[in-house]
Amino acid sequence: MTKIAVIGSGTMGNGIAHTFAQFGYQVNLIDINQEALNKGLNTVSKNLDRQVAKGTITEEDKTKTLQNITIFIDLKSGVAEADLIVEAASENLDIKLKIFRDLDAYAKPEAILASNTSSISITHIASVTSRGEKVIGMHFMNPVPVMKLVEVIRGYATSDETTELVMNLSQKLGKVPVEVNDYPGFVANRILMPMINEAIYTLFEGVAGVEEIDTVMKLGMAHPMGPLQLADFIGLDVCLAIMNVLYKGFGNPKYAPCPLLVNMVMADKKGVKSGEGFYDYTHGVKEAKPSAKFLS
Ligand code: NAD
Repeated sequence: MTKIAVIGSGTMGNGIAHTFAQFGYQVNLIDINQEALNKGLNTVSKNLDRQVAKGTITEEDKTKTLQNITIFIDLKSGVAEADLIVEAASENLDIKLKIFRDLDAYAKPEAILASNTSSISITHIASVTSRGEKVIGMHFMNPVPVMKLVEVIRGYATSDETTELVMNLSQKLGKVPVEVNDYPGFVANRILMPMINEAIYTLFEGVAGVEEIDTVMKLGMAHPMGPLQLADFIGLDVCLAIMNVLYKGFGNPKYAPCPLLVNMVMADKKGVKSGEGFYDYTHGVKEAKPSAKFLS
């Protein structure tokens, strides 16, 4: 298995492409948006510079890694030769179902189709293909080149062979894969997102301000980053999409997304990627916003 296709060149897609390319795999990075592809490559290059500066890779490694990545707008030609396709497009069921229908038609019959979805059912995604046994969740963490975990999600029809192959491949990327079953939010986001949502409710109800909530969780629970800063980093639209999957999937009101989260996404305050979320990033650094903004 040497040829990889990654679909989506956003926050996760460029990190996944970076990681595979750094470990010597040929990667086709595909996105419907040319600007996203350019931005994705630029991010990979900057992140490689950071690794060079730290001394973890050489300038030559950086050049080789970039040479291993080819960008594509056209899905069909981008996936034709791939042995493994990792889908990391927007967290939206309809978008993912359309992509997997197309992948089933365009990819080699033996190719494995993986999704980096944070919460959408792998079994549902697999149901629109004719190769359910080859469809699997490969859930990388952000930032992909740094974070060790890959949550490997077995759909109802995923075969042992596919699971074993993806577990082994994840190890070859220097990651630690953990196998889990396919229920809403899997393990990572079933636990993480309700915590983030509760932090947003705590702010929404005026119990404490943004920095106070983050400080309590950082210093009190030894979290490296507070939940509101983490939400900005993940993307508030992604957080909302995951809460909606948990809410619908379990039919339990305890997973209802906080109305403040809904409002902020509607107002395009999606966190780091849009320049503003619970903090302000318009000057290139994290800055506090007036607390009153969240209570109105
Ligand atoms: P993003 O919004 O940063 O990027 C999504 C990219 O997908 C965009 O560049 C968009 O143009 C592209 N896209 C949309 N439809 C497409 C299509 N039909 N074909 C090709 N490209 C298409 O999103 P992201 O944060 O990178 O999330 C991607 C996936 O990874 C989601 O499923 C998300 O749940 C998951 N994920 C995100 C995080 C995180 O921290 N952001 C962590 C783990 C998993």
